[in-house]
Amino acid sequence: MSRATPELLEREATRLLNSIEGAELTRKQRLEIPQQTIPAQDPVERRSNMSEVTLGYTEAQARLEAARCLQCKNAVCVEGCPVGVDIPSFIQAIEDGRYAEAIAIIHRTNILPAICGRVCPQENQCQATCTVGKVHKDPLKAVSIGRLERFVADYERSTQGSGVPEVKPETGKRVAVIGSGPASITVAADLRREGHAVTILEAFHRPGGVMVYGIPEFRLPKAIVEDEIHTLERMGVEIRTNFLVGRTRRLHDLFDKDGYDAVFIGSGAGLPKFLGIEGENLVGVFSANEFLTRSNLMKAYDREHAETPIFQPRKVAVFGGGNVAMDAARTAVRLEAEEVNVIYRRTRTEMPARAEEVDNAEEEGVRFHFLRSPKRILGNEDERVVGVECLAYELGEPDDSGRRRPVPIPGSETVIEVDTALVSIGNDSHPLITQTTPELETNKWGNILTDENGKTSMDRVYAGGDIVLGAATVILAMGEGRKAAASIHELLTSDSDDSA
Ligand SMILES: Cc1cc2nc3c(=O)[nH]c(=O)nc-3n(C[C@H](O)[C@H](O)[C@H](O)COP(=O)(O)OP(=O)(O)OC[C@H]3O[C@@H](n4cnc5c(N)ncnc54)[C@H](O)[C@@H]3O)c2cc1C
Ligand code: SF4
Repeated sequence: MSRATPELLEREATRLLNSIEGAELTRKQRLEIPQQTIPAQDPVERRSNMSEVTLGYTEAQARLEAARCLQCKNAVCVEGCPVGVDIPSFIQAIEDGRYAEAIAIIHRTNILPAICGRVCPQENQCQATCTVGKVHKDPLKAVSIGRLERFVADYERSTQGSGVPEVKPETGKRVAVIGSGPASITVAADLRREGHAVTILEAFHRPGGVMVYGIPEFRLPKAIVEDEIHTLERMGVEIRTNFLVGRTRRLHDLFDKDGYDAVFIGSGAGLPKFLGIEGENLVGVFSANEFLTRSNLMKAYDREHAETPIFQPRKVAVFGGGNVAMDAARTAVRLEAEEVNVIYRRTRTEMPARAEEVDNAEEEGVRFHFLRSPKRILGNEDERVVGVECLAYELGEPDDSGRRRPVPIPGSETVIEVDTALVSIGNDSHPLITQTTPELETNKWGNILTDENGKTSMDRVYAGGDIVLGAATVILAMGEGRKAAASIHELLTSDSDDSA
C-alpha cells in the first residue's frame, strides 16, 4: 500500500489552512475540514527497523486538525479523559499557533503528554465521546485529540526541551516510591513539587516500567521516557535501580531501618499468565513479556551490540489479542521472522488491542487466525517447538465481560508449523511484596486493595496503577498516582501541623 509522504500531507494541509486562515469559521465549515492523516513510515520499510512507526503531525496538519474542534460548551471529551485534561482550551491554543500555552494547559493535569499522546487508547476515552465523531456518525472521525497532544509535546521537546517544574522548599519529609512506571513517576513528581524528598526504588537496572521494558521502541521511543526520568532527577528525585523491595529490603524496613515517612507501591502487573496446556515447557515457548523485555530492555534486537542474545524466530505463533500480543508479533517481524501468526479465540471485533495497532500489524504482514485457540504445543525429540495444534471456536452468548463467549468446536483441530510460541494472555501482579508483607490486604487476583484515596490496609502505605487495577493503561496508572500523591501530601502536611 502506498502512503502519502509527510511532505505531501504538509503541502495539502498548508493549502487548506491558508484558505481558512483569519476567517471566522462556522460550525458547518469546521465539520467540513478533512480529518488529518498521520504520516507514518512505509510498512515495507519499517518491517526491518525499530524506529517509530508514526511520525507525528506537521505544523499545518496540527493547526488544521485543531480547527475541526467545535469548542463545545459541554466538552464531553474532558469527561472521557481519566486525568481531566482541559481539551478544548489546549486545542484552541494549537489552532491559534500558541503552542507553549497549549502544552502548559496539558501539563496542569498530565505530566507525560508525549507518552500519552502516543500510547493512550483515546478512541475509548476522550475521542469516544467527541461531538465531531457523533455528528459524522463515526467515532473514528472524532477530533484526533491524542495526535494533537503528541504534536504539542514534541514541539516543546524539539524547541525548548522539557522544562523542570518548580519545587517548593524542603519539608524534611521522605517518601519511598516502589517501581518507576507511570504511576510511580506521577507520584514522585507530584510529591517532589511539594518539597518532599522522594526516592524511587526500581527492581530493574533501568527506570521507566513497562514504558521501557514492554512497549517497543517503534511505538514509544525510549528517549522520550528517559527525558521524563531526567526531569524527575533534575527536580531532585533520587532513583535507585537494581533495588527489589521484598528482597533487597522488606517494606517494613523502609520505615524501621530507613526512616521513610510514607511509601507508595507502584510495582505493576509484571507476572505473565500461561495457558496451562501440553508443551508449554518446550524450548521456543516464551511469555510475550520475556520476549519483549529481552528485546527492549536488553536491546537484544541490536544483534551486533547486544550483550544478551535473543532467540532467532523463524515461524512464530502469538497467543492472544491485546496490545501486548500486537507488540510481540510486530517485534518478531522486526527480528526477521519469516512468518508471524496471531491466534485469537474470538473475532477481530472483540480484540482488546487498539484498532490502529491491529491495522499496523496487518500492514506489516502479521497473519491473523480468528476463532482459533491453541490446544497443545508440539515438540520434537530435542524438546523444541515444531508446531501448535489449534481448535476452532464459534461465538456463543455474551460472558461477564459483555463479549460473546468463544465455544470450542469438537474435532476441529488443525496444526500450524512454528518454531516459536509467544504466550500473551495477560499478566498478574508479582506476589513478592505482598508475600513478604502479610498485613497488605489483596483481592483474589493478588491486587493490593486500597480505599478511594489510594491508601492500603497498612498505615502510611499507598498503592496505585496496575498493582491495584490489574493490567490496565498508562493514563489510568497516572490517575491513580495523582490521587495517591494528594493523599500522601495531606498525610505529611498533617504530620508537620501536629509537630508544630
Ligand atoms: C507490552 C505492553 C504494551 C502495552 N501497551 C499499552 C498501550 O499502548 N497503552 C497503554 O495505555 N497501556 C499499555 N500497556 C499497559 C501499561 O503499560 C501499564 O498499564 C502501565 O505501565 C502500568 O503502570 P504502573 O506504574 O502501574 O506499573 P509498570 O509500568 O508495570 O511499572 C512497575 C515497575 O515496578 C517495578 N517493580 C515491580 N516489583 C518491584 C519490587 N518488588 N521492587 C522494586 N520495583 C519493582 C517493575 O520493575 C516496573 O519497572 C502495555 C503493557 C504492556 C506489557
Ligand atoms: S467534544 Fe470534540 S469537538 Fe467538542 S470540545 Fe471536545 S474535542 Fe472539541
